[in-house]
Parts: sequence; C-alpha cells; structure tokens
Amino acid sequence: MSFDTLGLSAELLRAIGEQGYSEPTPIQRKAIPLILEGQDVMAGAQTGTGKTAGFALPLLQRLSTNPPKNGRRPIRALILTPTRELAAQVSDSMKIYGRHLPLRSTVVFGGVKINPQIERLRRGVDILVATPGRLLDHVSQRTVNLSQIEILVLDEADRMLDMGFIHDIRKLLALLPENNVRQNLLFSATFSDEIKQLAGRLLNRPKLIEVARRNATAERIEQVVHPVDKCRKQELLSHMIGSRNWRQVLVFTRTKHGANRLAQQLENDGLRASAIHGNKSQGARTRALAGFKSGEVRVLVATDIAARGLDINQLPHVVNYELPNVPEDYVHRIGRTGRAGNEGAATSLVCVDEHKLLRDIERLLKREISKVVLEGYEPDPSIRAEPIQTGRNGKGRSQPRKQTEARSRGRSPAKRPVAARRESSGGYTAHRHR
Ligand code: AMP
Repeated sequence: MSFDTLGLSAELLRAIGEQGYSEPTPIQRKAIPLILEGQDVMAGAQTGTGKTAGFALPLLQRLSTNPPKNGRRPIRALILTPTRELAAQVSDSMKIYGRHLPLRSTVVFGGVKINPQIERLRRGVDILVATPGRLLDHVSQRTVNLSQIEILVLDEADRMLDMGFIHDIRKLLALLPENNVRQNLLFSATFSDEIKQLAGRLLNRPKLIEVARRNATAERIEQVVHPVDKCRKQELLSHMIGSRNWRQVLVFTRTKHGANRLAQQLENDGLRASAIHGNKSQGARTRALAGFKSGEVRVLVATDIAARGLDINQLPHVVNYELPNVPEDYVHRIGRTGRAGNEGAATSLVCVDEHKLLRDIERLLKREISKVVLEGYEPDPSIRAEPIQTGRNGKGRSQPRKQTEARSRGRSPAKRPVAARRESSGGYTAHRHR
C-alpha cells in the first residue's frame, strides 16, 4: 500500500517521498484517514511505529486546507510532549513534512532562554510544539494565546502523567476552546486508568486505534537476558561492545550518577561514551545526542527520562545495564531499537538483585525472555540478593518522575509503585551459551 491512497496532498506526498518513505506504517494507515476526516483519535502506539508522521501529516493538511479567515496567524495546532527531546524531534518532523506548505511551526521547552522563543511566537506561528512547564511560563507572561487552537495533540500522554504533568495539562486545557470545537488526538504507549480518565475528559467520541498489542514489545526486537553478577556488569558490557563490534549502543542505567560513572568507565576502557540525563544542560544533551547520531560517540548511556523521545534511526543495540523499576519502562527502552520496521536487539544484564524486576517485566510482556549465561561471566551462586539501590531518598524511584520541566506548581508527586523490594535469589533456569 502506498501513501497515495490515504488522501494526502501533493505537497505532503512530495515531502514524504523526499524522506524516502515508500509505504505508510500501520499506525499511519489507520490514523491518517481518521484525522483527515476531523475525528478525535485515541491511539495506542509505541514510539518507533511512525506515530509522529501519523498525526503530523493529516494535521498539516487540515491546517493548510482551512486557512485562517482574517489573514492573521493565530496558533491553530498545539502538540504537547513530555520531554524537550521529543518536543524538538516533533518540531523537526513538522518542519520536514510541512516544508512545501506555507505553514509556520515552532517549539518551546525549558532549559533554554525564553526570549528567542518569545520572539518567534511574536512573529506568528500556526503550529506550536511544547512541553507543558515552559508553555505555562509563556501563558503567564502572556506571550502565547491558545484561544484559537483547532487541533490538540497529547503525545506520549502516559509519560506526561508519569512525570507529574497532569496539573499543568489541566491548566492548559482550560485555556483552549471547548473540546467540541477542536480536534483532539491522544497518543500513548500504555493505557492506565489515569490515561482513560484523561481521555474521557478530553476526547469527543474518539476513534480507537491500536497497532501493537498493549504493552507488547515489537516483534522484530530480539530480546535476551545475560545473568551476571553486579560487580562484573561493566566488564561484560565493555567485552560485548568490543568483541561483537557494536558501533552504536544505547545503554540504560537507573540513576544519573550511575550513567555518569558508567560512561567514564567505558571511556577508560577505550570506548567513546557520553551520558545523557536530566542534570545535564540542554546544550550538553544536544551535543551528546548529535555525537551519538553521527557515530563519533559509540555508547550513549541514558536514564529513562533522558532517553524518552530520542529518535535515533535504526538503532541496532539497546542494553539494559540495570532493569527499570517500572516494567513499562522496559517496553519504552527497548522501543529505541528495531524502529519503523528495522531489526533490533535488546540485551539486559541482570544480577541476582533484579530477578523480581525481571519477573514483573515478563508478566507484563506475557512471555519469558530467553536467558543466556555467557562463559566466563557465570553468576556466583553464593551471592545473595540485596535491596536495589534506589537513590538518595530511598524511595521507589531513583530518578523522580519529574524532569527539570516540572516545578512546584502545586503538582502532586507522580504515583508510581514503590519498587525497592527485597529479592530472593534464584527464580529461573539459565542455559549456557558460548
Ligand atoms: P516515530 O514513531 O514517530 O518516532 O517514528 C520513528 C521513525 O520512523 C522516525 O525516524 C521516522 O522518520 C521513521 N518513519 C516514520 N514513518 C515512516 C515510514 N512510513 N517509512 C519509513 N520510516 C518511517
């Protein structure tokens, strides 16, 4: 099936062709015609499925075929994203897909100066991509007017709620036109009760689209667990990257400190590595990502929040250096590989402390992940499980679900399961592998 059959304009088809896309992905096939019709949509789509083009293309088309009446340029489409990186990527996509249309878009997010954003907004834009915190700053400075929004997109809505943005979202919704006069699109990888509640308030008789099984990992991703002692994980990681000649690896750690330390250790082993996490300045994050994309940096070590929204094409390897405390994060993490139809491999290094986390992940996936003990790295059976280090406050998450974007605007802390648990050792049978 080609893009021609979806009802997109010649300008958009040209931009798609220039991107080298030959056929729409499943989410695009389902979402584009519905959004073109003006329907509200609730889509269950993981990152990497091509969901951005799934909403960006029809949104651009609708705005370009219904130009504003009086020649003014009010903001007519608002796309909210949880992280700066995702906002920047969505904004880039808008520019790429809309390059042959006379529409203007811009992006606002925190961590960078506000004045250039104010200047761009003042000149007039049709499409605004934003993270909630910085958008509210603009609202309070009266540098943005949201009263003419025709299309609202909540991208990665589950992650926005996880990060404690619900109050900001509510405040923003109150500034938009009534939901029955605007089109509302909600994208989420998972559907918690909270997401369903939000969807109930926001969407008008939405069409439901689901492309991958809920919480299911992409079929094309080969997943494997290597049981290994905690103290030998770094050595094993360096060994795997070197001996298997991995050129571009995204590695997840649980904490910012752990990410820094691991990147340093990998550098000491002669592997070019950078860490990316919420404590880094926006400039440092952008540089690390650019170095990784260009191939100059071989290993990018990231925490969950920092990695959210990274769009790195055809990323071949994702390594869980530590399993995430929340099983859904595993799905998000490994969604970084095998993107848009490419094959990928997700490797998890699992020590005895993490067996319970692994079981939770397998329960969520409804399948076992194959365990392969690597020769020379067999776990020492005498090592007993210890409670998982979860950061300074000793509560569930080492990395709180608020990014630097989130501030204390009366937002309650995100409700997440407390994941520090005492583990028992054992729990699965491993087979040997050379
Ligand atoms: P997303 O899920 O929106 O983050 O998209 C993941 C990646 O897939 C991005 O790098 C897109 O450029 C790419 N992509 C989107 N649609 C297509 C398509 N129809 N064919 C090939 N690649 C695509």
